Amino acid sequence: MRALCWAGADAVEVRRVPDPELRNAQDMIVRVRRSTTCGADLPLLGGRVPEASAGEVLGREFLGEVVEVGPEVRRHRVADRVVVGAAVACGACWFCRQGLLACCDNGTSGVTAEPEWGQPSAGGFGRPARLGGFAGGHAEFVRVPYADVGAFAVPESVSDDRAVFAADAAPAGWYGAELGEVAPGDVVAVWGAGAVGQLTAGAAVARGADRVIVVDDRDDRLRMVARHAGVEALNHRYVDVLAELRERSGGRGPDVCVDASGMPAEPSRWPLTEADGGAALREAVHACRKGGVVVVLDARPGVVDRFPLGALTDKGLAVRAARRRGATAIPELLARMARDELVTEHLATHRMPLERGADGYALFRDRADGCVRVVFTP
Ligand SMILES: [Zn+2]
Repeated sequence: MRALCWAGADAVEVRRVPDPELRNAQDMIVRVRRSTTCGADLPLLGGRVPEASAGEVLGREFLGEVVEVGPEVRRHRVADRVVVGAAVACGACWFCRQGLLACCDNGTSGVTAEPEWGQPSAGGFGRPARLGGFAGGHAEFVRVPYADVGAFAVPESVSDDRAVFAADAAPAGWYGAELGEVAPGDVVAVWGAGAVGQLTAGAAVARGADRVIVVDDRDDRLRMVARHAGVEALNHRYVDVLAELRERSGGRGPDVCVDASGMPAEPSRWPLTEADGGAALREAVHACRKGGVVVVLDARPGVVDRFPLGALTDKGLAVRAARRRGATAIPELLARMARDELVTEHLATHRMPLERGADGYALFRDRADGCVRVVFTP
């Protein structure tokens, strides 16, 4: 089959690789219909992940049609249209039983991921095998382990272009608002107007926030989130963000500050110190009202410099973080999509065939031409 692979250094290319096969009784094989770029890929694409091997298949978020199921798969049949959560989790370990699927002990491909984190997290599609990952969705076919845990049937009325965002971007955004315990009347500030930031802003509105303010440096993205989520936008290139946030929150600062700024695109070695990667986090801690909540979302540099620890204790802030929601929110989000309460297809600012994967990733990395996400069709 054809698949978009990491090709070493900062190159990606479409290659011929072997078709995936069922390996375990709970596996299924999906023929991909849509897959989307993800900011967590940027360190890999920049040649900054030493664990990566050339030829590994990229793609964390995808949707497709079931073509083969293992003997223990109960919830899916051949020809079902499914969206697959980006975290690979067993559904049975202690963490999975608590609903913490992204913290699964068994979801990796057999490798203990990131020993410097202290514990492994769940596996993921499109991550290097040496970090516990699996071949990803920028391909014609994907093997989906633990298919009953991570894959969900898409309601007939929801288009592929909308549902592909239920794989990870929408669950992450939803989780950002949930972790912040956003409540009616809150003022919420979100750093980052990529897909996850925009969906966090939408989720905060859905939870009844009084004001939601998104901070970014790109006017095109800010216009998009203002139009689609009905929120306020601040461009930090020409607005004093801290002063504006104070002003718009009765002089106190926002109740909930979400850093959804993701991975810096500039080259630096993973997962070592990211000297400039924490600017949004520092600003969020600075802006947040005393006793408020700071939420950090998504894949991040391993270490950030100058973390404002003293401000946390002096202001009594709660900090919560998550890389992925895990699959538990996907059914509810698909139901919201079916009711048109959650609209995501506009986030696919660019669509192209998988053959143009290298062009698509260059566009995505540089945020050129108003790019928020590129959606590929094999
Ligand atoms: Zn588990």
